[in-house]
Amino acid sequence: MQLALVGIGKIAVDQHIPSISASDQWDLAATVSRHGAVDGIDSYTDFDQLLSDRPDIRVISLCLPPVPRFDYAAKALMAGRHVMLEKPPGATLAECHALTKLAKDNGLSLYATWHSREADKVALAKAWLADKTLLNLKVTWKEDVRRWHPNQDWIWEPGGMGVFDPGINALSIVTEILPVDIHLRDATLMVPENRQTPIAANLAFYHPRGANVSAAFDWRQEGDQIWTIEAVTDQGTLTLLDGGARIMVDGREDALVDDTPLSGEYPRLYANMAALIARGGIDMDLRPMVHVSDALALGRRIAVDPFHD
Ligand code: NAP
Repeated sequence: MQLALVGIGKIAVDQHIPSISASDQWDLAATVSRHGAVDGIDSYTDFDQLLSDRPDIRVISLCLPPVPRFDYAAKALMAGRHVMLEKPPGATLAECHALTKLAKDNGLSLYATWHSREADKVALAKAWLADKTLLNLKVTWKEDVRRWHPNQDWIWEPGGMGVFDPGINALSIVTEILPVDIHLRDATLMVPENRQTPIAANLAFYHPRGANVSAAFDWRQEGDQIWTIEAVTDQGTLTLLDGGARIMVDGREDALVDDTPLSGEYPRLYANMAALIARGGIDMDLRPMVHVSDALALGRRIAVDPFHD
């Protein structure tokens, strides 16, 4: 299938372009970018122009930050194209609902991708937890913002979500692996005096069967980077490490073995998108985004030191 990639920034270059190139299901037919291009690929600076010039391109993959993304997604759907959205699927939940309606009304596929859900060990964790009683689940997502988001101003602006930009990845895994839905009960947000979005956040969730579920996100982490989810159950402790790339049960890394053929988060996302279009589906699981919206609505804000890149 021919596809156009819009927003040739960090994630497009790091993940989308290599995954599309390696796939035998996809052909990168064009890019849309105000600054970037891909060698040998038709490049546009104007999205409207692409939509009118290239009716043969049926699929648009949007790699823009969340705030500008809605207008592109809505235009693409109104122009009869299937759409794949980077995470988070929008700046607001209302935008996401509006896109879902547009996709339904036009009989198109729409995919809210959650790349961390495709990390190698997430499916194993889900299967292991399915028949256990959860007692405690703790997310620790601590990374150095200067290392992963150098000079990205949009993450500090309204709609940029701050530390929830990576934190929503953890929440996408938690909502995938838990057999029941949770909801936010309490949040504390640490917001630099000179910024609009949090640099750190602590969250506590209601779990319908009484387990303690909490998350600590922090962008001020230097040295070792931590992306861990630890689930204590009546039958042992499961730990996902390195954002879901590794798994341990009771401290043993060889306890669970998986046999999934395709590896890599983005190759799986593109395979999912191809399957979604083939079956004419919409996949807009907004649960990770609901938790972030709730945290931004309910969170107690604490002003912390100014942040300078
Ligand atoms: P980025 O490099 O800062 O921006 C991506 C591209 O978006 C830019 O190159 C720019 O494209 C376009 N863009 C930015 N602001 C725009 C605006 N106001 N109007 C139109 N286009 C605009 O961001 P990124 O790190 O790739 O992140 C993009 C999305 O991917 C985010 O939602 C992020 O959460 C998600 N993501 C990022 C990572 C990561 O490691 N960085 C990992 C997974 C997911 P042009 O200059 O080409 O026009």
